Amino acid sequence: MGIYRGKFPVMLTFDVDGETVWLNRDPHNAGRPVVMSQGRYGPTVGVPRLLRLLARHGIQATFFVPGWIAEKYPDVLRAIDGEGHEVGHHGYLHEWPTRLTPEQEATAMRRGLDAIEKVLRGRPLGYRAPGWEVSGRTLSLLVEHGFRYSSNMMDADGPYLHTVDSKPTRLVELPVEWGLSDSSYYMYGLQLPNPRLMPNSTVFEQWTTSFDALADEGECFVLTLHPQLTGRPHRTALLERFIAHVRNTPHTVFARCIDVADAVLKAARR
Ligand SMILES: [Zn+2]
Repeated sequence: MGIYRGKFPVMLTFDVDGETVWLNRDPHNAGRPVVMSQGRYGPTVGVPRLLRLLARHGIQATFFVPGWIAEKYPDVLRAIDGEGHEVGHHGYLHEWPTRLTPEQEATAMRRGLDAIEKVLRGRPLGYRAPGWEVSGRTLSLLVEHGFRYSSNMMDADGPYLHTVDSKPTRLVELPVEWGLSDSSYYMYGLQLPNPRLMPNSTVFEQWTTSFDALADEGECFVLTLHPQLTGRPHRTALLERFIAHVRNTPHTVFARCIDVADAVLKAARR
């Protein structure tokens, strides 16, 4: 029996990093127009293309957005929200929590929340850490701020409830893994230690073989995508082929992370 409406839930998630991933890496990047343009492609070109794809297929997805992006591109945020997609928290300037002091992490958490709330008048309930770099403090902060789920851990194939500071909580984990992120195949830049560009055929094989195996087990599937990468036309086309593969698999359903998290919480209450 599937965990969401009796089916196997497939969550498409988009981390809208934009320029923040570069600004956070090195503030001098602000003076490098080409590097900035590499990030800017995400919110300005990638997101609209991906929204069109999702609308064509009647799919609702989850977009994790840094506060800085919410402030700079409020219309992009409204467009995402307006189509019924979920907006989640993704730091303020894409800071890795593991590199912050507890005070800095608490500030980034609050600034990210405030920025999204100011544009959408609603607070995000899901959190994805930039770089999936959750610190020893992050989960407590999520509980403190009333988040319903985290999507960061790599220790399970399906959702579970977190134990934080040795106490059971109502914070759901929706686990991820590097093989199911587009960045593992497409992330390229002169400042990166291991720039890589892999052919779409490799990516499609990785995602579909992983999907088939996980669907057999029946827990859930989380795909992590970036509009600055998957928003390029040939990669959006690849995502469309992947969507067709999912739709051809019986007992599967596309869902937003929050909907799956709420289903897990509801089942746990029984
Ligand atoms: Zn990110």
